[in-house]
Amino acid sequence: MGLENLTIHELRSKLDSKEVSSVELTRDVLNRIKVTDGEINSFVSLTADEAMLAAEAADKRIASGDIAPLTGIPIAVKDIFCTKGLLTTCSSKMLSNFIPPYDATSVAKIKEEGAVIVGKTNMDEFAMGSSTETSFYGPTKNPWDTSRIPGGSSGGSASSVAADQCIASLGTDTGGSIRQPAALCGMVGMKPTYGRVSRYGVVAFASSLDQVGPMTKDVEDAAILLGALSGHDPLDSTSINCEVPDYREMLTGDIKGLKIGIPKEYFIDGMDEDVSRSVTKSIEDMAALGAEVVDISLPHTEYAVAVYYIIAPAEASSNLARFDGVKYGHRAEGLTELIEMYKKTRAQGFGDEVKRRIMLGTYALSSGYYDAYYLKAQKVRSLISDDFKKAFERCDIIVTPTVPSPAFKIGEKSADPLQMYLSDIFTISCNLAGLPGISVPCGFSEGGLPIGLQILGKHFEEGTVLKAAHAYEQATDWHKRKPKF
Ligand code: GLN
Repeated sequence: MGLENLTIHELRSKLDSKEVSSVELTRDVLNRIKVTDGEINSFVSLTADEAMLAAEAADKRIASGDIAPLTGIPIAVKDIFCTKGLLTTCSSKMLSNFIPPYDATSVAKIKEEGAVIVGKTNMDEFAMGSSTETSFYGPTKNPWDTSRIPGGSSGGSASSVAADQCIASLGTDTGGSIRQPAALCGMVGMKPTYGRVSRYGVVAFASSLDQVGPMTKDVEDAAILLGALSGHDPLDSTSINCEVPDYREMLTGDIKGLKIGIPKEYFIDGMDEDVSRSVTKSIEDMAALGAEVVDISLPHTEYAVAVYYIIAPAEASSNLARFDGVKYGHRAEGLTELIEMYKKTRAQGFGDEVKRRIMLGTYALSSGYYDAYYLKAQKVRSLISDDFKKAFERCDIIVTPTVPSPAFKIGEKSADPLQMYLSDIFTISCNLAGLPGISVPCGFSEGGLPIGLQILGKHFEEGTVLKAAHAYEQATDWHKRKPKF
């Protein structure tokens, strides 16, 4: 085993004391990818040569004493982030030849710190899915059981961290795409408050929901990476100009008196027994650390899936209108008539799930149906947000399962979109309300599959969420287990 199995904070001290170099570390990581990725398929593209150059530059920087938290750390980036000069496909045929002329702000920020980008990770096409099965580049496998899905849409970002193919990764979360794969792959994933991290240069899916966030091996690393990503960006008008605290300083381990709300709507009859047992035990563990458990209610939870699957496709139908064969990516050949070219390009370039979302979204926005679907969904979205506002008067954080059941088999739900959508039930309300949320490992099923605990916080209180997650994590050792892969 090489250096690839360590965390950012473990490596920071080794790199700074010159015990190891970023070149050695990056070589180990690239080697690990070479040995494992034929089977797992975490990556759409690798950037081995660029990574070695970045590692050399990082070592020079470390030698000169100019050190940032991510200097020399190998990081994988979801293929939804624009990367200057590097293929950015969104795992779609539509963008299979797209090389952006600029970096997304998140990518620019980690590069400025001297992070080493090792490759672009696989995802559901245009981030639409919960299993990474809709990728044009084939499914990603779960390193804990390669017959199963890693979750999605940031499946490659999750599997790459879980399988030690990188030290940390970047993901995006529109309805759970960071937290759900983190839970199913047994690692940590955090969706920050809407507006906390810039989305400039991230291919837009549903603009009122999308957020960028860290995917890491433990909570301390999530705090480090979130710190690097956060902050105002004049290039993203939804990014908010408020101070970024030192998240790492908030990991005190002390959660005495912290009020944890347990929403009764998230603990339902018929829930998977392993999930229910693990999450119940985690709540007891947090109580044993001095937290105060409060019963709360989020009464509109049952409408969240329906509301999300109107709003997200509606926004997607508008955002994806730009892929027409003129400005970006794929263009159908041999056609001279413009409308025909648009039609053929979109028919060829998008996969089935993306087409389904565009059709559903266009329908929900069309005149005559707008009031009945889109407007109604927006009203219920407000009720869901109000539920959280009321609940947070009585508690500091909310604790729930991240996903109703552990990773399912590849192919098990792909023929039934509704079953797939329903598996997002516990993650999407957080996006509808714009709240921060994290998933941390909290146990394993009888069959040895990871289970995730979700912790939600008030707007811009990522620090409290991280503190609670860290205190829980440090009292357990679930995050230390590795897949045998
Ligand atoms: N599974 C959800 C969907 O398919 C969420 C995806 C995401 O967060 N990008 O829309």
